[in-house]
Amino acid sequence: MTSTASPTTPPQLPIDGARLIERLSALASFGGSVKSGVARESLTPTELAARHWLAAHYATRPGYLVGVDAAANLHIRRLGQYDELPFVMTGSHIDTQPLGGWLDGAFGVMAGLEVFDALDDAGLRTRRSLQVVAWTNEEGSRFSPGLMGSQAYVQPQALAGYLPVCDARGESFGQARDTALHAFDQAADAGGWSCFAPEPAQPVHAYVEAHIEQGPVLEREGLALGIVEAIQGVRWYQVVVPGRCAHAGTTPLVDRDDAQAKAIALAHALLSHAAEAAQAGDDALRVTIGRWACQPDAINTIADRVSFTVDLRHPDAHVRDAFDRLLRRLAPDGSQITLLQDKTTTAFDPALVTLLGEAAERRGLAARRMVSGAFHDAMPLAGHAPTAMLFAPSLRGVSHHPEEHTHSADLVACTQVLADGLLALAEPMR
Ligand SMILES: [Zn+2]
Repeated sequence: MTSTASPTTPPQLPIDGARLIERLSALASFGGSVKSGVARESLTPTELAARHWLAAHYATRPGYLVGVDAAANLHIRRLGQYDELPFVMTGSHIDTQPLGGWLDGAFGVMAGLEVFDALDDAGLRTRRSLQVVAWTNEEGSRFSPGLMGSQAYVQPQALAGYLPVCDARGESFGQARDTALHAFDQAADAGGWSCFAPEPAQPVHAYVEAHIEQGPVLEREGLALGIVEAIQGVRWYQVVVPGRCAHAGTTPLVDRDDAQAKAIALAHALLSHAAEAAQAGDDALRVTIGRWACQPDAINTIADRVSFTVDLRHPDAHVRDAFDRLLRRLAPDGSQITLLQDKTTTAFDPALVTLLGEAAERRGLAARRMVSGAFHDAMPLAGHAPTAMLFAPSLRGVSHHPEEHTHSADLVACTQVLADGLLALAEPMR
């Protein structure tokens, strides 16, 4: 944050919780419902209809502009008194997995828009402009990888690499993007919308993203809110263990080179390592073996090749390095270990984390600092602007599933802290 303004009485902005929940439920009707889950993959006709429904609420209201950028990210801007100052940004994504829940990223977008309505209710102007963004293709289920929109915003040259990426039916991201831009122009013309052309990589004063936790920690600890100070690092490995094919009935154990037996022993050792770390008090180490394949995959033949993946996550690079050494030491002779992805931990802005923590305290909310286990649009943004996140508790930690849910009171509390934080950052006019 570049601001030096620090009001003696931090501002508080009352939000309308009932309106927030009602509009979140209405958004869920684009592609599903609160109860049955939502199918609203990126840049599908359903998602475009939802975007236009959102934009239409603000596009003809005095003091607002709407626009899409080259990655089809939807921006809704509430003009501040000094629009030339670096602006305050919030938002998330409204695309879902093929069948996801009603909250995931939708909550962060609707929370930001509720802040706009609360500001309007209060008749408050801010010095800085505020911008809510619905980022394109966060999920990565239709076009891989995820986080395309937010990544292309902070690093515009990345877009060229995304345009040729095709979905399962052969439509490219570039085609879907063009359709989205065209549909937006049509909706804007028909509705008489006030538009602007959002440029990528503009100076952003601060980015705050509200999201559901998608894990069980807050609910288990009986807390209302998470103040997120980092996104943990992740490494993806592909491990291939070799063996030699032979007959299951005729080959004595001593004569076997069994790829399955060796791979299972290795996988077991890696999972045990994580279990031992948890027993010793480090519950942040996550080791997941998600894919497993063997050759020739026959019931009565000893396998000559097993390949499996490892998803490793921990906030501390030393712990990730130690796991790497363990994997390479235990891997049987002749194994191939390929590092598919290596993302370091993303640390959020300490001053912004403190500001949000204090806002939660003033609202009397039970909150804790935490590290995000999943990626979010805030990850690329953190390399561009002071960034932090707020988490609302997820019931039983369920997400990317129709049963994804959060108590209304918790959604409202999280939005309230977002509102107080954004108002402080955008600086209310006295
Ligand atoms: Zn999300």
